[in-house]
Amino acid sequence: MQSRIEENIFHLRSELPPHVELIAVSKTKPVPMLMEAYEAGQRHFGENYVQELCDKQAQLPADIQWHFIGPLQSNKVKYIAPFVHLIHGVASISTLREMNKQGQKLNKKIGGLIQIHVAQEETKSGFESHELSNVMEEVKNLEYVQIRGVMAMASFTENEVQVRSEFRKAYALFSQIKETQDGHIFNVLSMGMSGDWKIAVEEGSTHIRVGSSIFGIR
Ligand SMILES: *Cc1c(COP(=O)(O)O)cnc(C)c1O
Repeated sequence: MQSRIEENIFHLRSELPPHVELIAVSKTKPVPMLMEAYEAGQRHFGENYVQELCDKQAQLPADIQWHFIGPLQSNKVKYIAPFVHLIHGVASISTLREMNKQGQKLNKKIGGLIQIHVAQEETKSGFESHELSNVMEEVKNLEYVQIRGVMAMASFTENEVQVRSEFRKAYALFSQIKETQDGHIFNVLSMGMSGDWKIAVEEGSTHIRVGSSIFGIR
């Protein structure tokens, strides 16, 4: 019999265009639930807390690709750098520099996405559009950081028109930066969650981060 989690994953996949990656956001959920998703073929998982991510990574299969999607303090980069697949939500120059430092120690490039602030809420972090050219200039000097794209979160609102216009803005900024980068590397636009991923995909998302529609409410 299919488990609920398996069903949810199969259903989501059936609705997603093949080029869009599904990241299963498993924060606060116990390891056996992640294992159910794994058994349904899920390999990309997203976590928000450093300690929780490290604990789970140690217990789960090595072929999982871990995405760190929460706010990240620079001083915690070192704990996830050895194994993290992609750090979404890089939102400060100091985090970029710390990623470079940890990448150098490990002699590998640490993958990240630049978080851009498109929502109306002041509380959502991310760079403003006018800061992006400076940020990408800084990135050029960071040999051990590989910026693979952009991450954005829309406002938490029922207003679909607003959500769509925020995603559209994120896509426009992503495309603008992409023109100055190697498009084989810079090709990730992470946007869309349980409540708004359909709109995000219509507006050009390549990676959606879905938690509650897979694992249930938190
Ligand atoms: C928790 C979280 C998600 C998943 O949210 P759901 O609404 O449960 O799908 C996606 N992105 C980020 C950054 C999150 O913190």
